[in-house]
Amino acid sequence: VERTLSIIKPDATKRNLTGKINAKFEDAGLRIVAQKRIQLTKAQAGEFYAVHKERPFYDELCEFMASEPVVVQVLEGDGAIAKNREVMGATNPADAAPGTIRAEFAESVGENSVHGSDAPETAAVEIAFFFSGLELV
Ligand code: ATP
Ligand code: MG
Repeated sequence: VERTLSIIKPDATKRNLTGKINAKFEDAGLRIVAQKRIQLTKAQAGEFYAVHKERPFYDELCEFMASEPVVVQVLEGDGAIAKNREVMGATNPADAAPGTIRAEFAESVGENSVHGSDAPETAAVEIAFFFSGLELV
């Protein structure tokens, strides 16, 4: 089985949508094997999203991710990385397929409710960014 790192972003935690989003993951066959609520500093958000450092929206993205608590979680299942991204929907909610998390809950391309790792290598790095081995069974 595969594991991926998911983040329920500030726009969604603020609107108390954690349970509704988790239900979407579970309905898709993903298992939440670790989960915690944290608040990132802007510097920590910047480190997490370092790959986007040169993008025009980087500063806005880091401010947003540090603006309210987030829920970070590890999802497990067969093909979890692709399955999670399918359940999330397209980055821009205007392009997201009906029934996806972003179609139902996202407010804009920036405030789009969830993050999901995009490949096995990034999943491993992103899981280790937030969780120690002791927190993962
Ligand atoms: P994520 O990495 O959060 O799972 P993604 O892989 O669908 O989302 P990326 O291209 O990796 O999208 O962008 C990372 C995040 O940066 C997006 O989820 C969104 O919050 C923000 N973002 C992306 N494009 C824009 C944009 N044009 N304007 C504002 N914010 C953006
Ligand atoms: Mg991405």
